Amino acid sequence: MADRQPPRILVFGAHPDDAEVYSGGLVVRHAERGAAIKIVSVTDGRSGHYCIEPDALVGIRRQEAAAAGRLIGADYVTWHFHDGALQPTLEVRNAIIREIRAFAPDLVLAHRPYDYHPDHRAVGMAVQDACYLLTVPHICPEVPALRRDPIVASTCDLFTRPLPMQPDIVLETSGELERANAMAACHASQFFEWLPYHDGVLDEVPEDALERVGWLRGWFLQLHAQRVAHFAAPLRQRGIDPARIKCIEVFELSEYGRRPTPEELDRLFPGRLAAEAN
Ligand SMILES: [Zn+2]
Repeated sequence: MADRQPPRILVFGAHPDDAEVYSGGLVVRHAERGAAIKIVSVTDGRSGHYCIEPDALVGIRRQEAAAAGRLIGADYVTWHFHDGALQPTLEVRNAIIREIRAFAPDLVLAHRPYDYHPDHRAVGMAVQDACYLLTVPHICPEVPALRRDPIVASTCDLFTRPLPMQPDIVLETSGELERANAMAACHASQFFEWLPYHDGVLDEVPEDALERVGWLRGWFLQLHAQRVAHFAAPLRQRGIDPARIKCIEVFELSEYGRRPTPEELDRLFPGRLAAEAN
């Protein structure tokens, strides 16, 4: 019976905006289907700017995240751990254990432990370390232990060392691009200020608010094109010509979460592209 309810989705990103970049399509798809969604930025985002002081930036980014969440009816929060200094400590792990137990998600999403950003790696490791302990009552006894593990999956990245992503789940997400882009646009301090500054293209960002959203859409389309090229082989295995695909998200199932049935995968990754039988 419980599986007829809309699923509960809990997304851990290292920074406010990671959820949109790495899993925005899936998050929007679930929101449109009535899922309960919570997004946690494990760090406070204090380091993501070139002129706004860190303490001020924390408040700005908390508001940007909340606004992005409101667009899809999701709770989007930022935690207090410092951006750029996250490690997979016991404190971080226990905070994740408490959060997962309290929200009781069907699906947990997080970065892989292999990633360019140390904060992303730390979130991936801490979530991985939390998995088994979720059902151990003497760990964090102030929050009742789960009786059953959630399904856990890593969000999309293109890194190959030490291990490339296993493309267990492939979604075509062109239909969600506009809303995921609108969520991302709420993080104005990042997508219109810090990231273009960091990439040396700050002078390319339009002044006009609507034009900015279009400019950001172009940024996302470039990112998706890289993904489509990177994951061309798994797309072909699913009978899809990569040349016809605009946006994809790929997910890797964690061996440390519950192993899902095909029916659960259909519920948690609606519209997933199934591999063709050979
Ligand atoms: Zn990040």
